[in-house]
Amino acid sequence: MRIANLENRAVLVHGDSDVERAIDIATASNGRFGPAPASIYESWDEFKAWASSYEVDGQAEYTIAIDRSRLGAPSPTPRQVFAIGLNYRSHAAESGFDAPTQLPPVFTKYVSSFSGPDTEVVLPPGGNVDWEIELVAVIGREARNIDAGSAWSHIAGLTVGQDLSERVSQLAGPAPQFGLGKSFAGFSPQGPWLVTPDEPADPDDLELSCAIDGEEVQKGRTRDLIFPVPDLVAALSRTVTLYPGDVLFTGTPAGVGIGRDPQRFLRVGERLDSWIDGIGELHQTFVDDSETK
Ligand code: ZN
Repeated sequence: MRIANLENRAVLVHGDSDVERAIDIATASNGRFGPAPASIYESWDEFKAWASSYEVDGQAEYTIAIDRSRLGAPSPTPRQVFAIGLNYRSHAAESGFDAPTQLPPVFTKYVSSFSGPDTEVVLPPGGNVDWEIELVAVIGREARNIDAGSAWSHIAGLTVGQDLSERVSQLAGPAPQFGLGKSFAGFSPQGPWLVTPDEPADPDDLELSCAIDGEEVQKGRTRDLIFPVPDLVAALSRTVTLYPGDVLFTGTPAGVGIGRDPQRFLRVGERLDSWIDGIGELHQTFVDDSETK
């Protein structure tokens, strides 16, 4: 099952071709669920049961042709956003750190940086903006002190995320400024939709990549996560309560710009394509702030 955020209304997505179609969940459920995407996660188990039988019954008429420019982040108003640093050995190594043996660094990306899958992003003046393709998980059931074995049952689904990162502000101070350096407007594109964990052949082994103007710069597999998704959810839940709709960026594999020799950062006019097999793609182009004034 795939769920998208089409102009802040939750929709069910259908189609294997280039043109995905959708059905409005609030309309189809006679107001029982939606319209806001956040309300779907608040009643996730009931919603999923309804949507499964609705699709099986063959009642669904997917009348809305999806215009990707109208898509937003699948969970646009989470109560909490978690992001994980150094969660692949190859990326820890290129960053000059030993691979973590305890839970890796946890920080946030502020919700004001969220966007949908296809966007223009302003490069902050004087900044060095870097790319980080990441698998993003959205919580579907409140989780407090859970085991890794039950973690997938607390996850509504998975989506593609870019943890865009401005390295000058991130690294200027005596301690890393992760939250702000990664939260400029448009720095957390996500989408194009949420895919439920039962859809991929193995939700713990997904290939993720990104390319700049067609040149592949990152490629990894989520089986190489030091803390896989279930372990992250369980570990976080031992300190905090995770709420339906909460968003978790799970970390990036090797190939970011700051880890290269020479270092490389995104430039005006470049296009960044990011994808995860079985989930979907993001497309960002970069502009300077004079182009948006
Ligand atoms: Zn990251």
